[in-house]
Amino acid sequence: MTLGRSADLLKALIAFPTISCTPNLALIEHVAGVLGAAGIACTIVKDEAGTCANLFASTGPAHTPGVMLSGHADVVPVEGQPWTTPPFEATLRDDRLYGRGAADMKGFVACAVVAMLDASKRTLRKPLQLALSYDEEIGCVGVRRLIDVLEMSPVRPDLCVVGEPTMMQIATGHKGKAAYRAVCCGEEGHSALAPKYRNAIHVATSWIVAMRAAQERLAQHGARDDGYDVPYSTIHVGTIHGGRALNIVPNRCTLDFEIRTLANDRADAILDDIRTRAARDDEAALPDIAEVNAYPGLDTHVASDAVRFLEAFLPADTSKRKVAFGTEGGLYSTRLSVPTLVCGPGDIDVAHKPDEYVALAQLDACDTFLARLIGGLL
Ligand SMILES: [Zn+2]
Repeated sequence: MTLGRSADLLKALIAFPTISCTPNLALIEHVAGVLGAAGIACTIVKDEAGTCANLFASTGPAHTPGVMLSGHADVVPVEGQPWTTPPFEATLRDDRLYGRGAADMKGFVACAVVAMLDASKRTLRKPLQLALSYDEEIGCVGVRRLIDVLEMSPVRPDLCVVGEPTMMQIATGHKGKAAYRAVCCGEEGHSALAPKYRNAIHVATSWIVAMRAAQERLAQHGARDDGYDVPYSTIHVGTIHGGRALNIVPNRCTLDFEIRTLANDRADAILDDIRTRAARDDEAALPDIAEVNAYPGLDTHVASDAVRFLEAFLPADTSKRKVAFGTEGGLYSTRLSVPTLVCGPGDIDVAHKPDEYVALAQLDACDTFLARLIGGLL
């Protein structure tokens, strides 16, 4: 069976093991080479170490707002997962392409690059643009540097399409997320004299109880958005580490927790409220809390021009919904004020798992959508 151009490029992209926090320059240079051969110039924005990079490319008129396709080049690790195909070598089986990143989200990246090549052969009235970022999977880390550069441009896109896997449905929103590390301090001492010392693990558990009470308040009385599976803002503890031995009162315990917020909530306000309430019980026992990473939510109105514009290029039965996972779309929408929607090939349910795949029919659907979108830029 002959594969389409997008599937062919996807095979090449899967072969670059661009796990988050590892170099991605080889992939970025490959994409820049493919675009460069068609005369499309690329702006490469590297990280401090120079080993990871974002890529931005534009085809069509330079000083007119256009449509920006956005994706990430990084993938999640494969260690410990029982893959039945080599994760960094695309395997075609039952009209699906298997490989790490096939769905999340090198499939869209491949379709977007092919669309850029096609668009470069046409006389566009508005430009088609491509933004590829690094280290999205660990909290939209790379794209911030790219946005720093795009912020200087006098012209912003009319629309950004983030191609995370939605089975080509339109996602208009997702929650924002803030990740925190709490360090709880105590005093070391002999456990036989335990009540004489402050136990850091006990401090941590008090903080967890305070967070769980806050979660309950948010669930019962907080903002609601029934577009989400969990229709309120959420608080979750992911890890806890503390103590050295049973007979020593622990002097340190650390927690990693996150707050995922609806558009109407702010993580820092929720955190302040928990702190204020916990301080009433024992101010001295509050943990030191540092924000590790945060990205804003996305909340594009379902009746906006952006949705109407995009819908025109998609099948009539395309649904509109909100998604549980985060994207760089919240940053584009808040920092650049660009109306942003999420729409891409593949199923998020197979992402981050062994034997990740994208159906060739999904790549075809994305190619068709992008071809029609180019038609809308003529
Ligand atoms: Zn992704």
